[in-house]
Amino acid sequence: MDLAVRGKVALYFDYQQKLQIVKNPLIVVEDNSIVDIGTFNDKKDLISGHDIVGDENQLLIPGLVNCHTHLTMTLFRGLADDLPLDIWLREHIWPLEEKLQATDVHSGAKLGALESIASGATTVNSMYWFPSEEARAFAESGLRGFIAAPVITGIATLPEAIKDIENHHDTVDGRIRVCLALHSPYTVTIQDFKDSAKYIKDYNENTSKPELLLHTHLAESKTEMQDSRELNRKHNLAFPDVSTPTEFLNEIGILNENLIAAHCIHLTETDIQLFKNTRARISLNPLSNAKLGNHMPPVLGIIDQVENVGIGTDGPASNNTLDLFDTVRFLALYYKGFYHDPTLVTAEQVFRLATIGGEKAVNWKGIGSLEPNTLADIVTINLKKPHLTPNDPDDAILNHFAYSMKGSDVENVIIDGKLIFENRNFIDQNVDEAITKVEKIAQRLLSKD
Ligand SMILES: [Zn+2]
Repeated sequence: MDLAVRGKVALYFDYQQKLQIVKNPLIVVEDNSIVDIGTFNDKKDLISGHDIVGDENQLLIPGLVNCHTHLTMTLFRGLADDLPLDIWLREHIWPLEEKLQATDVHSGAKLGALESIASGATTVNSMYWFPSEEARAFAESGLRGFIAAPVITGIATLPEAIKDIENHHDTVDGRIRVCLALHSPYTVTIQDFKDSAKYIKDYNENTSKPELLLHTHLAESKTEMQDSRELNRKHNLAFPDVSTPTEFLNEIGILNENLIAAHCIHLTETDIQLFKNTRARISLNPLSNAKLGNHMPPVLGIIDQVENVGIGTDGPASNNTLDLFDTVRFLALYYKGFYHDPTLVTAEQVFRLATIGGEKAVNWKGIGSLEPNTLADIVTINLKKPHLTPNDPDDAILNHFAYSMKGSDVENVIIDGKLIFENRNFIDQNVDEAITKVEKIAQRLLSKD
């Protein structure tokens, strides 16, 4: 059934990067696309036969884009916190992951997908193992996004990853895409990086499908260069004469438009220029960076200079939620405090990063705006709440988005033209069952036998 979405106000960036505000809006959705947007009075004749979603209390925004996470890690949420990254990974997360079965990944990712949708994310870029299981979770939940075809030297090979790409890229009505996921410069050798980049270049030059991206963690820890040198030395591979992880990726031919790099904490001014010049893509994940004590990325330089930049939650074991509103608020607040300057990282900038910035960061045309002829990924937010009042002035609504909205304010979610979440309830999903499955898996993973 085609949809007509009503609200008090609609807020979005158009493709000239201009903020648009439509009062008393009506969005007309047909099939999986937005075909029109305007005021209710101007457009109401277009909607006979359409199901009405929303009411006069709703803010209408594009679905949020979570540019970097690990959906399945809902399984490990809250099991090991307040620890350094290295100890957290090596002593807690990796031993639990060794006990994982394929179906566990489906259950973890499914709960993560439902949590994402219920808090307003409609596109999610997830990096994990067992791509078929994550794909099943995306397909069943209605979420749009990327699963990973993983490559880790000595553990997961490029030929295996290519099979995952062939099986899942641009499937389920185009709702699922695959990133070639090379975990990091300290777990993947130069040779594997180069072979993967060559595969992606050839693929993108010869396909009619959406272009493939290479997804990696970059410049997340202080010891990354040293660890990367050590890994490549063990494999008898010459390491280039570079001083930062970004220079390293540039030197081996990875830093280009096919790359989405998560974190980018330890970036120099020169590194930021390299991102700018190569148009490589960035997912900022400031809440995870803060929680793991990994320092904070140079966000001011990045959002000022780098065009293709969005935000992500990172996995729910290092954040600990998939609610992007948490990340939005933290990002808008942190740098003001750190630099003693309340004008830094504005409400408009974080709204851009969470919507059309995300579209650019993951290179998926049409997911981050409400313009006609874009994909119908629409979120409505109930403004009739104490913490979102008053909301008549335009500025107030944008400020509420940055400083007082929460994922739990999301009222309706439409993905690819389908109403998935209505009046805060899933239409076709059993959330209790998804929670119970994850509880049981966590109990098994933590048991001593
Ligand atoms: Zn991550």
